Amino acid sequence: MAKFVIAGGGIGGLATALSIARHGHQVEVLERKESFAELGAGIQIAPNGFHALDRLGIGAPVKSGAVHVDALRLLDARSAQSLAVLPLGPAYRRRFGNPYAVVHRGDLYAPLLRACRGHAGITLRAGVEVCGYENTPSGVRVLLSTAPPIEADGLIGADGLRSLVREHVVGDGAPRVSGHTIHRAVVPMEQVPRALRWNSVTLWAGPRWHFVHYPIAGGSKLNLAITRDDGSRVAVSGVPTERDHVLSGFPDMHATARRLLELGQDWRTWVLCDRPPVDAWTDGRVVLMGDAAHPMLQYAAQGACMALEDAVTLGDLLDCPSHQIADRFARFNAARRERTAHAQNVALWMGDTLYHASGAEADERNSLLSGLSTEDIMDAVSPFHGSRA
Ligand SMILES: Cc1cc2nc3c(=O)[nH]c(=O)nc-3n(C[C@H](O)[C@H](O)[C@H](O)COP(=O)(O)OP(=O)(O)OC[C@H]3O[C@@H](n4cnc5c(N)ncnc54)[C@H](O)[C@@H]3O)c2cc1C
Repeated sequence: MAKFVIAGGGIGGLATALSIARHGHQVEVLERKESFAELGAGIQIAPNGFHALDRLGIGAPVKSGAVHVDALRLLDARSAQSLAVLPLGPAYRRRFGNPYAVVHRGDLYAPLLRACRGHAGITLRAGVEVCGYENTPSGVRVLLSTAPPIEADGLIGADGLRSLVREHVVGDGAPRVSGHTIHRAVVPMEQVPRALRWNSVTLWAGPRWHFVHYPIAGGSKLNLAITRDDGSRVAVSGVPTERDHVLSGFPDMHATARRLLELGQDWRTWVLCDRPPVDAWTDGRVVLMGDAAHPMLQYAAQGACMALEDAVTLGDLLDCPSHQIADRFARFNAARRERTAHAQNVALWMGDTLYHASGAEADERNSLLSGLSTEDIMDAVSPFHGSRA
């Protein structure tokens, strides 16, 4: 059996640890933060993400902690005209074999962490930062900032958007700052007027901005996220933001959306980043996965789903002896490159064209979307939602 080191204990790193350990390998997950935890609010999981979680043996607990929304809805943010609705009921579930649901990030992360902690083949080490690696004749030496190196058969860089491992494998510098600023807040559901407690993922598309909200935490909270294409050039992450600043940025919003936006109190702000797709994620016995390999904007709600798919595919391919690891990493790269690059590109397109259209382009979008049937919309989401890793 081989020994793998995973740099990064996010959703992707833990899912990969589980997936690899199932084949009897030893896995050490190194997380530079002082504890294993996932911050942030809600996350949408499409059926392809649930298929991967089922394969990892934790689909059931994640689904039981999720809110099973009735529909994905797209509205014009100024007129409240309904542009498109995708019902997520029995017909959707029959077609895609799993629900579309929203979870609090902690409700996805906790079952992953529990499963890793309960697996004899997995060691979790927090407060340990990977600072480099060297391929050796028989394996890889993983270099740590404040501890002796670790000899392993393979290193997996699951260290996210600003991956240190990627710096060595790809060397493409800092991520691309999108110029899109997102403000996020979570509101207790009892503060939401009953008439606005919609059990859906609702997206209001405005000129160069959009507003998304959906219930999380068993329906006890409402997740709010509002994004503006404001050309910001400095990447910020989770900065506390004045409520008045958020409210004053969207003067032309429909009254219903505004009522919901006004419920937010403790806002935090991010300036979103991604990277353009690249072809190669491997360097001998080192491979990238998840956001380290293919970070994308969140508009297709597929970043974590792709990381979960990666984890399953990588685990399946690593059912092999140590001397085949470099080859299996290359096969993983080839198997996942096209699909994840497509997700990166679709996410960009959704932000710029679908959600942020203005003027004549918005009118064109509205008339095009209004002519789509439910079947048409299901067909459109099928390449992502309908796939099994
Ligand atoms: C606003 C927003 C909304 C989103 N919504 C959705 C959604 O609805 N659905 C969806 O599927 N996806 C969504 N995503 C994307 C999703 O959050 C990410 O794709 C996913 O979390 C990536 O997981 P990861 O494990 O690859 O990386 P990360 O979560 O970034 O984990 C990387 C880990 O590595 C650690 N680390 C970094 N460097 C080192 C080092 N040198 N040594 C050791 N450890 C290190 C970090 O501390 C971190 O814990 C969203 C993203 C954003 C920003």
